[in-house]
Amino acid sequence: MTSTEEIDNTITRPGSVKINVQGAFIVDPDAATPAQNGSDNGRVSPSHHETSDIRLPNHTAIVSHIAVDIGGSLVKLVYFSREVDSTDPGGRLNFQYFETDRIDDCIEFMKLLRDKHQALNGSRSQQLCVMATGGGAYKFYDTIRDALEVEVLREDEMECLIAGLDFFITEIPREVFTYSETDPMHFVSPREIIYPYLLVNIGSGVSMLKVTGPRSSQRVGGTSLGGGTLWGLLSLLTGARSFDDMLAEAEYGDNTKVDMMVGDIYGADYGKIGLKSTAIASSFGKVFRMKLQAEAAEAKAADGPVHDGESHNGQDEDSSPFSSADISRSLLYAVSNNIGQIAYLQSQIHNLSDIYFGGSFIRGHRQTMNTLSYAIKFWSKGEKQAYFLRHEGYLGAVGAFLKRQPANWGRRGSLEGLDDVQEWRKALKTEP
Ligand code: ADP
Repeated sequence: MTSTEEIDNTITRPGSVKINVQGAFIVDPDAATPAQNGSDNGRVSPSHHETSDIRLPNHTAIVSHIAVDIGGSLVKLVYFSREVDSTDPGGRLNFQYFETDRIDDCIEFMKLLRDKHQALNGSRSQQLCVMATGGGAYKFYDTIRDALEVEVLREDEMECLIAGLDFFITEIPREVFTYSETDPMHFVSPREIIYPYLLVNIGSGVSMLKVTGPRSSQRVGGTSLGGGTLWGLLSLLTGARSFDDMLAEAEYGDNTKVDMMVGDIYGADYGKIGLKSTAIASSFGKVFRMKLQAEAAEAKAADGPVHDGESHNGQDEDSSPFSSADISRSLLYAVSNNIGQIAYLQSQIHNLSDIYFGGSFIRGHRQTMNTLSYAIKFWSKGEKQAYFLRHEGYLGAVGAFLKRQPANWGRRGSLEGLDDVQEWRKALKTEP
């Protein structure tokens, strides 16, 4: 029988490529050291985070594949590279995204990776292959294969999300964190016993998965009011041209200018049912009345002396009573609150107390994480915990990357059906 030590030494995770993650850490952009961010006891102040690479100092084997997760809004790409200008062994996992509309740019980038792989490894390696997941793995399958002239392997989206999340939770230090206003980014150490949990993936739309094991999951729900909704509606309602602009606007907006608050209706708290005056009673609930008032004021002004050539038919930008920032914040709250509440209800129905939030919608944005985290804490009375990830948008892409089983490694099959060995090994590790 295989010894525990042997399993430990040779197998990182069942059913996945053997990436040597020993000593893996997240690097600051362009640095080779672990990201510290002035941390103290696992606490750091999150900024609007850019995705840092993951350094794998002990991985020396040639990696002959890259992975893409092609979603409705974004293409997420993960690839392995050797350290540039370094004699160190190992390398890093790199993370890159493109808008799905610009898939051509992504394909060009993958061509560069393919050529570089060939130049670096030559005949020592297999030809580069592309692991693809997400809806676009089907939609753009021929395009990618024909453009790159390499093998493209498709992997199931939900399986990849789970494989990616499991990898981050169990293997990468300073990846998973909890969020609260008083303790904004509290890292949770990698751990082995992780099931069951609820994964709430907030991409263009939202999927909620109940996960009870590496190969055991069920999509229990979701909502179409997700990241695509925020992105789409804000592009109609504000002048913002990019998602980053929208998040930046939301940061300093005041949602009470457009939302109807409990205090607007009651003049005070509605204590009997536990609603503070500052709670949102109706997202965008003030808009109709304020719009009428503004139009009336404008009509009155138009009756008065005419200003130098200014047009007053229709609303020009300056006369709008609503600022882009207020609208952005209001909609961000509306979408996040809604997802937080549905996530709580799903976790309640399925008796799950760990809730992981993934998907590019989050983008490390404080108000989003605060809203989601607060919703879970509030509704569960502190019994359930919301978790976030630094690479939240890359769960599917990393999962696809890990699914690659090089022919000569042959380990995936060796563990099939040996879940009990894994369970036994975990039990051994957790015994005092
Ligand atoms: P999908 O796989 O459906 O594309 P993602 O997890 O990639 O989903 O999330 C897409 C969502 O992320 C968008 O709908 C938007 O809300 C948000 N987002 C984050 N960054 C960007 C960006 N740079 N451009 C567009 N949307 C972004």
